Amino acid sequence: MPSPRLRFAPSPNGRLHLGHAYSALLNAGAARALHGDLLLRIEDIDPVRCRPELADALVADLAWLGLRFPEPVWRQSARMSTYRAALDGLRARGLVYPCACTRREILAAAGDARDPDGAPLYPGTCRGRPVPQEPHAVPHAVPHDTPHAWRLDMARALDACPGPHNYTAFSPGGPDIVRAAEPARWGDAVLARKDVPTSYHLAVVLDDAAQGITHVVRGQDLEAATDLHVLLQRLLGLPTPRYHHHGLIRDEAGDKLSKSLRSESLAALRERGVSAAEVRARLGFDPDEGRA
Ligand code: GLU
Repeated sequence: MPSPRLRFAPSPNGRLHLGHAYSALLNAGAARALHGDLLLRIEDIDPVRCRPELADALVADLAWLGLRFPEPVWRQSARMSTYRAALDGLRARGLVYPCACTRREILAAAGDARDPDGAPLYPGTCRGRPVPQEPHAVPHAVPHDTPHAWRLDMARALDACPGPHNYTAFSPGGPDIVRAAEPARWGDAVLARKDVPTSYHLAVVLDDAAQGITHVVRGQDLEAATDLHVLLQRLLGLPTPRYHHHGLIRDEAGDKLSKSLRSESLAALRERGVSAAEVRARLGFDPDEGRA
């Protein structure tokens, strides 16, 4: 058995708030219970919304909260060549295709179909078009210089990896449950955006494997995405961690938290004199040790 490794993986596109604190503290508690290590990974692939000063601020906020990470912090923005190489591999196997559709075109073509996040389900408009190679070399191809995303060809992916795609859901102190993933409901998901050679889904799967993550603790809002992540892991020959998807704090501790407390950043709370121990206590953790 590999030694347990967990990660907290926030995106620096705003200040951390109590929802992040809750998830980070749950991760820390699970790492302690499993006698494992908790790593910090900054998911900053979005060059517009993610800012370096917000990444520095989140590291400081987590330190204030009492969290310590035993290994250097990973930044996804430094790993683009790894993502590009994985994408190239999928392209060589015919498992991804370029898509130059705009949001508006997808919305118009999708009709009522939605993916599990509620976004229009891509209807496959660009599937089967030739892949761009040289500028204007292939008639009807997406032109080389037109911004294009890369989408997973879900039907081909499921041919290559027919499943079943089970994964183990764990809960600290509770029984393991085997869950059946249904990746097909994501359709031809974007694996590389128009502006960067990856998407959240591809980067998270590659990095969880590269960091040797054995247990993923993250919010329920990402539970459906796990279905796609499990398929990507199979396609890329990567191990599947165990997953725990926690409730969001509005449900778990809702009536104990005032609206203002909930929406305020940790920095704002700190500035008006709220202590880290108080934040931990309000979230249901041991105020002294951050233990659940
Ligand atoms: N970066 C994601 C977020 O901030 C979390 C990704 C994950 O835990 O898999 O919502």
